[in-house]
Amino acid sequence: MAKKIKVKTPLVEMDGDEMTRVMWQMVKEKLLLPYLDMNIDYYDLHVKHRDDTDDQVTVDAARAIQKYGVGIKCATITPNEDRVREYKLKKAWKSPNGTIRAMLDGTVFRKPILVNNIKPAVSSWKKPITIGRHAYGDVYNNFEMNVPAAGKLEIVFTPKDTGKAKNTLVKDFPSAGIIQVNHNINQSILSFAQACFTYALGEKIDVWFSTKDTISKIYDTGFREIFDHEFEINWKEKFKKAGIEYFFTLIDDAVARIMKSEGGMLWALKNYDGDVMSDMIASACGSLAMMTSVLVSPHGWFEFEAAHGTVQKHYYKHLKGEETSSNSMALIFAWSGGLRKRGELDGTPELVKFAHMLEEAATATVEGGTMTGDLLVLADKKSSNKKVNTEKFIDAIAKTLHKKLHD
Ligand code: NAP
Ligand code: MG
Repeated sequence: MAKKIKVKTPLVEMDGDEMTRVMWQMVKEKLLLPYLDMNIDYYDLHVKHRDDTDDQVTVDAARAIQKYGVGIKCATITPNEDRVREYKLKKAWKSPNGTIRAMLDGTVFRKPILVNNIKPAVSSWKKPITIGRHAYGDVYNNFEMNVPAAGKLEIVFTPKDTGKAKNTLVKDFPSAGIIQVNHNINQSILSFAQACFTYALGEKIDVWFSTKDTISKIYDTGFREIFDHEFEINWKEKFKKAGIEYFFTLIDDAVARIMKSEGGMLWALKNYDGDVMSDMIASACGSLAMMTSVLVSPHGWFEFEAAHGTVQKHYYKHLKGEETSSNSMALIFAWSGGLRKRGELDGTPELVKFAHMLEEAATATVEGGTMTGDLLVLADKKSSNKKVNTEKFIDAIAKTLHKKLHD
């Protein structure tokens, strides 16, 4: 066996829940540990461990990413009332992704993994559409309240300098209702714009940005103004030289245009819009399991993960001893993305090369006809196509990887 590749700086690893936790372990054992001598800074974000630590482990993991620069995260349960009962939790802890994103103040970029035997559902799409999702604000950092009965909702804003509070009547409730208050911070929106322009310039792709600015005259229009201004003063010339464009359009118009486009752009979206649209793009390009995700922070920190959740239904089958065919592609790409970035930052080209080979082995396995159930129904029909179970899929990739590395 050849010497293992050394990963110099500690990699921040965040373990997760359910089926993805099961696959995570297999990916490490079969695809990484045989080839890499990794220095791991491990955080167990299993929902029970988050509960035991009063969610301190999530904060510690985010701090570790701030310290070392690169984190790789497994999917995690965001507890709701059902989960609180299921795992006997103290409370419905916040989404770990929300907590980490807020601490890193970054932008999430999601790009589908394309394989040559699966055609996107939208026939005009020839190139991957990358989604740039703002990682702060909207419903993820909101305030919500039940209104028990008739009454007034007022907002009080107290400027720090003058201390003079100002009351604004928001709604005179005639009867019971519900309330949601969203906010955002200009600096975060600016970082979002900068991350998008930086990413697009690096990849040499156009930027489309869309919000509901016709209806939301302050919140959504605020996003537009910050983007337009930042582009005008810092990016216009660079984009022109690179032969790429930035344009803003109303989100309804953007949705309509995307469906008729060739793809190949970065579509920048607010937090909630990006959450929803990335699932649409993922499923149109294959499966949720074929979507990569990276959080890029303006401070130079990166967090890689799969865009999908913990694949709960498959996990329950797995617990009952039934066979599952869960797809580990996005988890593998989370690792390859993190390893590549670590290699770039540490100046270890052999690690960058390994990350590339790992991705090639994964896509070549699917293109060769060995795939999980979610892909089998989408792939070009061929008699040589073979559906395999969760573990056998990873084994097949391991075999391809081993061959590639020893050829
Ligand atoms: P999900 O885990 O994304 O799964 C939804 C469905 O998509 C699955 O039932 C499966 O469809 C398909 N799917 C997703 N990933 C797959 C994979 N790797 N291989 C094969 N099929 C895959 O969403 P969910 O079941 O709604 O959520 C489960 C938990 O995940 C929730 O507790 C939620 O809080 C959490 N979540 C976490 C993250 C994150 O950490 N980034 C993101 C989203 C959700 P079939 O059942 O039809 O096969
Ligand atoms: Mg989503």
